[in-house]
Amino acid sequence: MIDTVHVSQQGAWGRTVLNRADLALPHLGVVVDYPVLTTAINQQLEQAGVNVRWDTRVTAVKSLHHYATVSTSGPEGEDWLTCRLVVLAEGGALADTLPGVKRLVHDYRQSAVLATITTEKPHDGVAYERFSHQGPFALLPHGDGFMLVWTRSHDDAQTLQTLDDAAVIAQLQQAFGDRQGKIVSVGPRAVFPLALRQVNRVVSGRVVLIGNAAQTMHPVAAQGLNLGLRDAIGLTDALVGVPDVRRTARSGRLCCRAQGG
Ligand SMILES: Cc1cc2nc3c(=O)[nH]c(=O)nc-3n(C[C@H](O)[C@H](O)[C@H](O)COP(=O)(O)OP(=O)(O)OC[C@H]3O[C@@H](n4cnc5c(N)ncnc54)[C@H](O)[C@@H]3O)c2cc1C
Repeated sequence: MIDTVHVSQQGAWGRTVLNRADLALPHLGVVVDYPVLTTAINQQLEQAGVNVRWDTRVTAVKSLHHYATVSTSGPEGEDWLTCRLVVLAEGGALADTLPGVKRLVHDYRQSAVLATITTEKPHDGVAYERFSHQGPFALLPHGDGFMLVWTRSHDDAQTLQTLDDAAVIAQLQQAFGDRQGKIVSVGPRAVFPLALRQVNRVVSGRVVLIGNAAQTMHPVAAQGLNLGLRDAIGLTDALVGVPDVRRTARSGRLCCRAQGG
């Protein structure tokens, strides 16, 4: 749980501290492991009777006048189906194939470096956002330590991945200071190249885009998942009472999930 957010800039005086009490909120945020989230979602899908095709990749989506077609490739081989509405939430690769949809891409020329760290002092529910000389980073309370998300140049990110742990700890300690005492350990580093991606429209015929398929943003905002949830809620509200969807719901709802998804 995040109860306090501490924002500071390396080499500058001052800081901003936000507390849950200031905003009369139970918490300012929650750090959730991806498998915990997907397990909860999968349970809900099962309870709702949604037919999930596991390990099935969508290879093409086409929108016709009254229907959309979805081509799939999975353990049972190649298949295709028709439906009245496709909700595309696969991160965005198929968006470019839809008529009228253009993806605007801004390459940040940066990567995010992710790693778990432990520190001498307990986190006490404090999340840090620090604008360091090498790039902004967040330290998010996670288990007994923190999850580090550090925005760096692509070259720096590759270097951090291969440097030994002691050298990474030294860099981070210098950039962060000693608010949490000594940084005791750092886990393996994962690197994600970053880009802003936004589509000019989120509807193309019988296909609607949500989540990262509609917008992918810089993780320093920590808003991507939140916006995806907003999209899902907004779409659900918009579809309540739509006759087409009621007919589709009676004949079954289908969800395709690629491996690891
Ligand atoms: C370093 C980093 C830190 C972040 N921190 C935060 C944060 O603090 N708060 C926050 O709100 N957001 C954060 N985000 C953003 C958040 O992770 C994304 O916005 C969110 O994961 C988007 O979810 P999504 O389901 O739309 O897309 P994705 O997470 O991209 O999921 C798409 C799914 O579709 C599957 N798939 C892809 N192609 C196909 C296909 N052809 N057929 C079938 N399945 C397919 C994939 O396997 C995957 O499971 C962060 C992102 C990064 C990179």
